[in-house]
Amino acid sequence: MAAQSPVSRCSRHEGMFAFVCETCDDKLICMTCVTDDHNGHRLGDLNKFEEKHKRDIQQCVDKLSETDIPNVEEAIRKCDTKYGMYQKRIDAIKLQGKELKGSIDDVIDFMVTKCAEVENINTSISEGNKTALIEHLNTDLKPKLGRYQDILTSGTVEDITDIAREIRSASNVSSTSRSLKTVDFTPEKISTDRLAASLEVFW
Ligand SMILES: [Zn+2]
Ligand SMILES: [Zn+2]
Repeated sequence: MAAQSPVSRCSRHEGMFAFVCETCDDKLICMTCVTDDHNGHRLGDLNKFEEKHKRDIQQCVDKLSETDIPNVEEAIRKCDTKYGMYQKRIDAIKLQGKELKGSIDDVIDFMVTKCAEVENINTSISEGNKTALIEHLNTDLKPKLGRYQDILTSGTVEDITDIAREIRSASNVSSTSRSLKTVDFTPEKISTDRLAASLEVFW
């Protein structure tokens, strides 16, 4: 049973409240009121009236403590969770950026290694070219020059005829000068769009 409310009295007659006047919008009245202003009005039982309203209030208390307040507290907790979510995103972006930097370092290492390899290959090719050119100069061109100069100054007619024939047949053969080939590569341009796309975080 609900505890009894503290006693309060009618302000007009000083009597204890005895009924509720339903005709007068649930006004609390004393025994004297019944025969005075509220004569002939529809009266209600004060205890039942009090219990009914206490039940209504209790329902409100239950709703507040079991539903409304927990819901708001849960919403407050969710506010905290949402706030923390940005920290998660920031962490994810930083992590992805770190991985991306690592990948870029790998690409730099790869390209530097390739450059060194290309340099080695080209050094080797150039050394081969140089050796061949020196050999061509020393064993072919310079002796030929000496021989031709000698024949110009002291050659017989027979020598001159031979050399002229040699020069004619040599001119039919294409030039022996080597084409100096090397290998090369150019790094691709970096796309910042592609870098940014790599940083996109899905959550
Ligand atoms: Zn009264
Ligand atoms: Zn009344």
